[in-house]
Amino acid sequence: MLDMKIIIEGEIAVPVEPVTLRHFIDGGWCDSVDGAVSERVSPSHGVVVSRAAKGGKAEAEAAIAAARRAFDDGRWSRISGRERAKVLLKVADLIERETERLAILETMESGKPIGQSRGEVGGSADLWRYAASLARTVHGDSHDTLGEDMLAMVLKEPIGVVSIITPWNFPFWILGQKLPFALAAGCTCVVKPSEMTPATTALLAELLVEAGLPAGVCNIVLGYGAPVGAVMSEHPLVDMVSFTGSTAVGKMISATASGTLKKVALELGGKNAQVIFPDADLEDAADAVTFGVHFNVGQCCNSSSRVIVHDDIAEAFTARVVELSRHVAFGNPLNPATQVGAIVTPEHQRKIDSYVQEAAAAGAQVELGGNPLDVEGLGPQFYQPTIVTNLTPDMAIAREEVFGPVLSVLTFRTMEEALALVNDSAYGLSAGVWSRDVHTCLAFARGAGAGTVWTNTWMDGFPEVAFGGMRQSGQGRENGRYGFEEFLEVKSVVMRVGRTRA
Ligand code: NAD
Repeated sequence: MLDMKIIIEGEIAVPVEPVTLRHFIDGGWCDSVDGAVSERVSPSHGVVVSRAAKGGKAEAEAAIAAARRAFDDGRWSRISGRERAKVLLKVADLIERETERLAILETMESGKPIGQSRGEVGGSADLWRYAASLARTVHGDSHDTLGEDMLAMVLKEPIGVVSIITPWNFPFWILGQKLPFALAAGCTCVVKPSEMTPATTALLAELLVEAGLPAGVCNIVLGYGAPVGAVMSEHPLVDMVSFTGSTAVGKMISATASGTLKKVALELGGKNAQVIFPDADLEDAADAVTFGVHFNVGQCCNSSSRVIVHDDIAEAFTARVVELSRHVAFGNPLNPATQVGAIVTPEHQRKIDSYVQEAAAAGAQVELGGNPLDVEGLGPQFYQPTIVTNLTPDMAIAREEVFGPVLSVLTFRTMEEALALVNDSAYGLSAGVWSRDVHTCLAFARGAGAGTVWTNTWMDGFPEVAFGGMRQSGQGRENGRYGFEEFLEVKSVVMRVGRTRA
């Protein structure tokens, strides 16, 4: 399947025929029993990029049964961490080998700039390598002071069968934050990518086989949230659901999974803010704010869709961000120079626009952009980089996840005011502070109710560093030791040792 027919557009090799995607269950590829198929039309180019099998209950149940068998017979869960690591390292190498083809498909399905797709796909190899290193480090501890004839060991075991459900905005990266960690722990998995961006996940199956992952250990079912994701969330043979997506769907999954009390890890939405103090390096801060709101066309859980600027510098700082945003390169996502690509669907484009129009009608000032855009030679699914001022914190645009290239500007005078604005949110994913004073940065970091606080930077992430949200941004963590531990269960073994009655 990775041998797609291509033409050269500019410097990029583009597929001329849609790729065909099938389910990957128990080590083999199959269509849906009812033959259903769904097509993904490129948001930027208007052509069909992929034709994917559209799964139902039957495919979800077959995949779960395969994962259960593979877990229970120990073909993966009981081999050594060293053997697991070997496979994961090989997958990382293969991802690097296939980065260009996967990145093109990611851009064509999602509309994101090719440079960002290359970074996402190629960069995810590092997640696989890091997870491989963790596979060899699973250990519990022992209790040695319980009395001369007693010894207790606390063991760590793989949690079991994990359902992995991912969104469309970073399909391959988010898969990399889940699948290799679950596999490193010894779990077996059923994966469902978003129906809008199935290609890179579906094609990973080929790399898993080439790397030597045993059949049934990772199963991939293509299709929609209902029924496939719903079956994966409620099924009694599944031990854990690892979900990234919207807060609304996260709540549904949590409710569905509660029927069997399975573990649920949720990475959900955000309404993140960068706070700018007057003593900051304002040029760096303006760059980071511009990047933070336009990266991935603003369709990013970590989008800094709010900037909260000190009154004394608000006017000049906003003017600088407007200037930088005016020159953001947007348009054809297959052009390597493009920084802002297409919006994922027409419905989502309308939703973004409605936030801006509603704010404008309520008295907000649109300083830049504020309109959908038809890019010549491509199509109508773009949105201008947009900056809105003169708003109040209670407006929907300043409170809800807009998920587009739209920045809301608010102002503050004191640290307390800044923190109150940051924390006055149902979400708690990430927050940022810009100041040259380490005391200011630390006071902010301690006061911000967010899973990640960036100081004098934005959106830097590392496989080693835990990531996740507070409040309605989620539960559980990904990456690092904390993320790995989510896939491990704790078992205490209490032994009477030494002399026993004859
Ligand atoms: P979504 O919630 O609509 O869909 C996510 C996945 O859930 C898809 O695979 C979808 O098919 C599936 N799904 C839908 N209904 C389901 C159901 N009833 N049961 C089981 N699965 C179901 O999200 P989206 O629009 O694809 O992604 C955007 C959202 O994801 C944003 O809110 C964004 O903030 C969030 N997100 C969060 C993070 C994070 O790490 N916190 C990262 C990326 C995206």
